[in-house]
Amino acid sequence: MKCSIDGCPGEYEKKLIVHTIQLKGDIAVFDHVPAEVCSVCGDILLAPKTIRRIEELLREKKTPKATVPLFEYA
Ligand SMILES: [Zn+2]
Repeated sequence: MKCSIDGCPGEYEKKLIVHTIQLKGDIAVFDHVPAEVCSVCGDILLAPKTIRRIEELLREKKTPKATVPLFEYA
């Protein structure tokens, strides 16, 4: 599929990405999220069903597989 960014000649490719979500001051990180990533500009598309799955996981409050250090760039 062609990239949706104006003037970008890239194509989206299926990849597994690290997706970060900010919720009310907290940050949740999902690894191995299936997404379409533009090979040129890096634009990311998530399928509606992928977004629904992430929202479900957040609602279920599953225990994270791991915790990650969060650094402030200052
Ligand atoms: Zn692009």
